[in-house]
Amino acid sequence: MRRARLRHREGALTAELARVRVGGGIGQVPARLAPEAVVPLTCGFCSTGCSLDAHMRDSVAVNLTPTPSYPVNRGHACPKGWAALEPLGARDRATRPLLRNARGRFEPIDWGTALRVFVDRVRAVQETHGPEAMAFLSTGQIVTEEMALLGALAKFGMGMMHGDGNTRQCMATSVVAYRETFGFDAPPYTYADLEESDVVVLWGSNLAIAHPILWGRLRSNRHRPCLVVVDPRRTETAAAATHHLALRPKSDLVLAYGLAHLLIRNGHVDRAFVARHTDGFEAFAAHVERFTPEHVAAATGLARADLERTAEVIGRGERVSLWWTMGVNQSHEGVRTAQALIALCLLTGNIGRPGTGPNSVTGQCNAMGSRLFANTTCLLGGHDFGDPAHRERVARILGIDAGLIPHEPSWPYDRIMEGIARGEIRGLWVIATNTAHSWINQTDCHDLLDRLEFLVVQDMYATTETARRAHLVLPAAGWGEKDGTFVNSERRIATVRKVARAPGDALADFWIFKAIADAWGCGPMFERWSSPEATFAILRELSRGRPCDFTGIRDYAALDDAGGIQWPYPEDAPDPRPERRLFGDGRFHTPDGRARFVFGEPGPPLETPGGRYPFVLLTGRGNAAEWHTGTRTRKSGQLRGLSADTPYVEVNPRDARASGIAPNAWVRVVSARGSMRARAVLTNSVAPGQVFVPMHHAHTNRLTFPGFDPHSRQPSYKYAAVALHPEAAHEKDRR
Ligand code: SF4
Repeated sequence: MRRARLRHREGALTAELARVRVGGGIGQVPARLAPEAVVPLTCGFCSTGCSLDAHMRDSVAVNLTPTPSYPVNRGHACPKGWAALEPLGARDRATRPLLRNARGRFEPIDWGTALRVFVDRVRAVQETHGPEAMAFLSTGQIVTEEMALLGALAKFGMGMMHGDGNTRQCMATSVVAYRETFGFDAPPYTYADLEESDVVVLWGSNLAIAHPILWGRLRSNRHRPCLVVVDPRRTETAAAATHHLALRPKSDLVLAYGLAHLLIRNGHVDRAFVARHTDGFEAFAAHVERFTPEHVAAATGLARADLERTAEVIGRGERVSLWWTMGVNQSHEGVRTAQALIALCLLTGNIGRPGTGPNSVTGQCNAMGSRLFANTTCLLGGHDFGDPAHRERVARILGIDAGLIPHEPSWPYDRIMEGIARGEIRGLWVIATNTAHSWINQTDCHDLLDRLEFLVVQDMYATTETARRAHLVLPAAGWGEKDGTFVNSERRIATVRKVARAPGDALADFWIFKAIADAWGCGPMFERWSSPEATFAILRELSRGRPCDFTGIRDYAALDDAGGIQWPYPEDAPDPRPERRLFGDGRFHTPDGRARFVFGEPGPPLETPGGRYPFVLLTGRGNAAEWHTGTRTRKSGQLRGLSADTPYVEVNPRDARASGIAPNAWVRVVSARGSMRARAVLTNSVAPGQVFVPMHHAHTNRLTFPGFDPHSRQPSYKYAAVALHPEAAHEKDRR
């Protein structure tokens, strides 16, 4: 499908290779770009995985339009997709390696020097404090081939023990929930399920804003589904719902158990499915027995009638799908909540059929690639670091000594940060993420980053909050400036293409990792990783026989021909084009083939509002034009024009009156950890006692509370205790 317009790219790779010559320095051979008129590539913002057509002039993309025939977005894109080229041309692109000098200023250096500094200082950290004292933090924003190379280089080549990704902040909960329930991290759905359901439950998901193309597909559902939205806020999505359950923040688990209680009590259990394909139902039913409507209504603040009606809607639905995002994942009990949603589908038999499924929608464009191939939470290809047979197999495929593979997974992100606090982590390599902005409890985070003996940041921009604290900045090419693959939320593997030249000396992360491998002295270990596409072939082999098996995908051209291919796609699979969901045969990836009911005891949020901090702070996406820390989207005039130009806090009018806060007045939002200034937006979309601040503002994470789900270690960004202080007259004068 996409291949017809993809020709003559080979020169680009050869030229890039020519640039990466360590020892003799890095040459300046200009990369050749695709000369054809239109080059399709997968969008580099969210996990929807839309295809965009890059319109080329003189071998450089000058415009983007959504690919008309692509099965995901069918000719549509959200504002970020339309504007995706603009951030590439930003004035603050990192164009040369930068080294902080004795006066504390950045000085441009050449790549040869940068690599020597990198190697010398990482070695110094490891020799002085042990190999585990150097860690890395990666991202869901780079292509899978780069993630895999980084993970293999850091752990097998350089001896690092600990490395995690910013996907810990968005997807870790779903990973653990699926793994414990299905036996593998396997989101079961395909996007067509949004169009096939007769009941759709969006739980902690503002789909209209966060995933606008999926929202469009849901809106095109011909069955006119009943839409239930579970969210404390009256979001844009909730406003369009058939039923909006505005539950008390973080009472989701109690609500889910209450719905399970009602479904069982009212006879909506698919007994045949439960008996044949699941394990643990009786214990689960006993567990939810005490979650009576009275108990649940008191805990969630919802009316009993709403609970009864929702259970009936789900119970009587023929094709019910439950979809969740960060409202579930970013919670002190996110894993058990996600597993409760999975249980609702299992007990009603809503899985494996069109329009069904417990469906976690991913955040970043390649969070799904990261989940399988980052070498962080699992060993490459969904293998297990702790399993000797898995280590042997991976080592054999890679042609390395199995002894180089650690026997256990890395510390998660929060433990790496704690490791800095304890002095056990002394050096950090941050790739394409902005820890100083996005990590929870920002004041502490800044202090920890500033304690590092060596902080190296590899990024498109030298101006991120994290890069500004670095000792060394390595300039990276961005999306659109390199080749590789992404995996979207519905497990669709698709290509990303080089349609623009990276500025100055910036290099694709893939080639930076290769250069580091050479400089470190472990280059021969990665000889077969000679290009992104050669690496794809290695990853394909690593997937063989695994639930994510994609050995049937010959090469990038096959992906382009098919419009992306969903895993699994083993060698003998038929036509890859029809959309495919998992578990149609009722067989799961557990040893006995049965899905598990997994459950636990609900508990209160980790910080309680009251006293000096009477409000609950909710955080989330502001609008469809903003992306996370704004590192790229704020570089686009078009996207800035669609976003608020000042930080704001949503306040219920009743609370505003009681606090003496006028519409649009400046207020200070204060938590026990820090504060930020924001304009007050008075709106009934937040309930009394709650306030909402978009996550994109630079200082939002001064407020957030560092609580974590105990199973996934995902931060609980969406619940903290805060106060609102109207800004005093003398403070206004100072502005
Ligand atoms: Fe890109 Fe996501 Fe927007 Fe599609 S919905 S254009 S993938 S940001």
